[in-house]
Amino acid sequence: MITDSEFDRQHIWHPYTSTRDPLPCYEVESAEGAEIILRDGRRLIDGMSSWWCVIHGYSHPVLVEAARRQCEKMSHVMFGGLTHSPAISLARLLLGILPPSMQHIFYADSGSVATEVAMKMAVQAHDDPRRTDFATIRCGYHGDTWNAMSVCDPVTGMHGAFGAALPVRYFADAPKCGFHDEWDPADFLPMQRLVEEHADTLAAVILEPIVQGAGGMRFYHPQYLRELRRLCDEKGILLIFDEIATGFGRTGRLFAWEHAGVEPDIMLIGKALTGGFMTFAAVATTHNVAERISGSSAKCMMHGPTFMANPLACAVALASTRLLLDSPWQERIRQIEDIMACRLAPARQFPNVEDVRVLGGIGVIQLDRPVDLGRFQQRCVEEGVWIRPFGKNAYIMPPYMAVTDSQLHRLCDALLLLVKEINQY
Ligand code: PMP
Repeated sequence: MITDSEFDRQHIWHPYTSTRDPLPCYEVESAEGAEIILRDGRRLIDGMSSWWCVIHGYSHPVLVEAARRQCEKMSHVMFGGLTHSPAISLARLLLGILPPSMQHIFYADSGSVATEVAMKMAVQAHDDPRRTDFATIRCGYHGDTWNAMSVCDPVTGMHGAFGAALPVRYFADAPKCGFHDEWDPADFLPMQRLVEEHADTLAAVILEPIVQGAGGMRFYHPQYLRELRRLCDEKGILLIFDEIATGFGRTGRLFAWEHAGVEPDIMLIGKALTGGFMTFAAVATTHNVAERISGSSAKCMMHGPTFMANPLACAVALASTRLLLDSPWQERIRQIEDIMACRLAPARQFPNVEDVRVLGGIGVIQLDRPVDLGRFQQRCVEEGVWIRPFGKNAYIMPPYMAVTDSQLHRLCDALLLLVKEINQY
């Protein structure tokens, strides 16, 4: 009989892998706090929060208890014609912390599905066959489903693989003005021109506010969003903020729109919504957008997944969000930001490093060449940490309410060491 790990290698697809020669995978036995425990007993300090979502750490007793209690009542029930207290309590809580103009919540299964829902909402709200296009910025990422892919960065995203199969979208250059830079009005000109050129056919502009995540780990200037809000209002175009990665404290504010103080028409949240316990997302929108959809030719929002508002996910999301709001999360993020800014700064002197940047609970070292992932991860595991770079970016964003100072220092030490070693490959 082949071993589990060989079976996995031969039969199970992992994210973005070839079946022919997959990179090694490390088998996880359990995870607790900020640690991932491998089957062979090795313990890794988690620097990834399992792709942004595990903010309280793994196996948090409050979330485990919320799931257990909800399981005993019902793990699922359809949402068509039925409703339940986890969905209602969660929506009440969310509407209190989302931008004030958000008044309606649509629960979705995952971030990518939320992107699809938001784009459908925008098209339905216009209810005009000429207004079905979307604009966005390069270096963005919004998920792996069809429409979500179409608004991901055309170079680092999946346009290469799917080409003409994807709907055509309009891309403005990514903002160049960094979060901490002085604002340069020229930064907005590419978007200004793009929107003016397509003003009559755009349903919406979609982008990640302040932090572009999986498309480039870039932090841009809040003024960009203020200019964009003004322009969209002027042209009657909806503005969609994808806060799936930035939400729930990661950038230092509860949601990233707060850095700019401008509200979107449609907003997506996911990932840390359940504290990373399970897949779940939500799309929030204004009363105006909801009214327009209800008054459209279809008369209703045309989406309704089987697992919509899954009670188990709602109950865990409720527990996770309450836990966060009751904690000193803002102070903790500030401490983590300070530690990372100080500890990662020496990498600026490394010959193979182009940039080092830190915002909230995100620390990025941008290299001058793509990282050899297999080799890098093997070294991570040897050093007792879990970091998974993509492209030229080696970054850490630990489970910020669980990681201890000493674990964070070890993550920073390991990241510096491994980045330095790349020169010797
Ligand atoms: N939007 C953003 C900004 C994301 O970072 C992601 C996931 N990395 C998604 C959408 C897609 O979410 P999911 O993987 O849950 O489908």
